[in-house]
Amino acid sequence: MAEVSIRKVVKAYEGGVQAVKGIDLEIADHEFVVLVGPSGCGKSTTLRMIAGLEEISDGQIWIGGDVVNDVPPRDRDIAMVFQNYALYPHMSVFDNMAFGLKLRKFPKEEIRRRVDDAARMLDIQPLLQRKPKALSGGQRQRVAMGRAIVRNPKVFLFDEPLSNLDAKLRVQMRTEIKKVHQTIPTTTVYVTHDQVEAMTLADRVVVMNGGIIEQVGPPQELYHRP
Ligand code: ADP
Ligand code: ADP
Repeated sequence: MAEVSIRKVVKAYEGGVQAVKGIDLEIADHEFVVLVGPSGCGKSTTLRMIAGLEEISDGQIWIGGDVVNDVPPRDRDIAMVFQNYALYPHMSVFDNMAFGLKLRKFPKEEIRRRVDDAARMLDIQPLLQRKPKALSGGQRQRVAMGRAIVRNPKVFLFDEPLSNLDAKLRVQMRTEIKKVHQTIPTTTVYVTHDQVEAMTLADRVVVMNGGIIEQVGPPQELYHRP
């Protein structure tokens, strides 16, 4: 049984742009799937529909055995990491990471335990009292990942999480993301336009083009050496 199931999904934006034109994709439990393809091909729209941030025009999305078309983002068993980190500037790192759990009325002790565990995993324990503006780009992205990890979701969604980092940090954070996936084997859907990221992270790569899925397969089948 697939963890995430995308069935005949269409997205037509107001004004007539058909961003996604009836795609099917089954993502297995614990699988790391990377969506690639040229700018504007519908990757981000697909991810945002899984997250519930965009309405689906037609078709169904299933998460963990349930149709989630009408389930608001907060009630989906997902956590998303964005390219621009999307941290709250006025809150400490601790409070940024705790926010989603407070919102869901988790007990204080449980929140503290989860934030501490995630901070240890990501090596950001000394930063918990800082504000985001006192952090480097790489540190901010670790906090954004920490905020997703503490939720302990079934599904992780990443939207170009490394695009704002320099080359050296991208390599470091790729390793970090791989490590997190192996430590807590969550189902992951990851959007990027970077082939190296797709190669190193994916169990399966999904190539989109013009709102359709053109190819699906393990990276070694899709990218052969020159
Ligand atoms: P990608 O992530 O692959 O770059 P997107 O999913 O962001 O592609 O966009 C797919 C298509 O949908 C593009 O043609 C884009 O211009 C269009 N699009 C994206 N968001 C909106 C929106 N909010 N309103 C109208 N059109 C949109
Ligand atoms: P309240 O949530 O009522 O403000 P708390 O006792 O939960 O009070 O925490 C007060 C502040 O201390 C939090 O907002 C947080 O910034 C910080 N804090 C709490 N626990 C930790 C922790 N384990 N590590 C770092 N900072 C923490």
